[in-house]
Amino acid sequence: MFTHRWWQGETLDLPVGKAVCIGRNYAEHARELNNPVPKQPLLFHKPATAFCELSDSLQLARPGLHFETELALLIGAPLNAQSVNPWSAVIGVTLALDLTDRDLQAELKQAGHPWERAKAFDGALPIGTWLPIEKMPANVADWSYRLDMNGALRQHGQVSQMLCAPAQLLELILVDFSLQPGDVVLTGTPAGVGVLSTGDDLLLRLDNTDWQQRCRLASPGS
Ligand code: ZN
Repeated sequence: MFTHRWWQGETLDLPVGKAVCIGRNYAEHARELNNPVPKQPLLFHKPATAFCELSDSLQLARPGLHFETELALLIGAPLNAQSVNPWSAVIGVTLALDLTDRDLQAELKQAGHPWERAKAFDGALPIGTWLPIEKMPANVADWSYRLDMNGALRQHGQVSQMLCAPAQLLELILVDFSLQPGDVVLTGTPAGVGVLSTGDDLLLRLDNTDWQQRCRLASPGS
């Protein structure tokens, strides 16, 4: 069972809610998958049953999954379309992996079907421990993060490169979906996505903070 935890291990007294995720929020990533760069990012959900710990030894729910490293926001207060300054409800920041069954997603896209089976399955959202938002750089436009895979830089996300900045994403989400304490918002992936294999060693870092987490891909059954 997943529980929200602060980066120093303390459990947060919050339920595990849904994740509202953003697709195509970085132009370069839309291009690498031959998707059009949208006027407005697209939204999808992952349910609480998709949440799992971004642990040192991560067992993948299925073989051949692709990683997308994303900045994640933890919601600490109820929000709806009438909320004034929704950004003030964000209490934590971390990195998460939007795990994707890319082949299945391609089939679903082609058939015009929803993506849930490729993105919202059990274990599809490994989430790191939460860093209190106060420990992030004061200017959100300066936030950036990295994924190193087997010692080499694979993804470098910068808020300044997002098509829609995090505070605007909240406003966009709240048009259709209210958010509850314990819900999570994923802000989209930068370029550099790819497939995961057993033995891969991932190092995720929030730049200019002390937060980092290592994640090794364990073989099924280990
Ligand atoms: Zn994603």
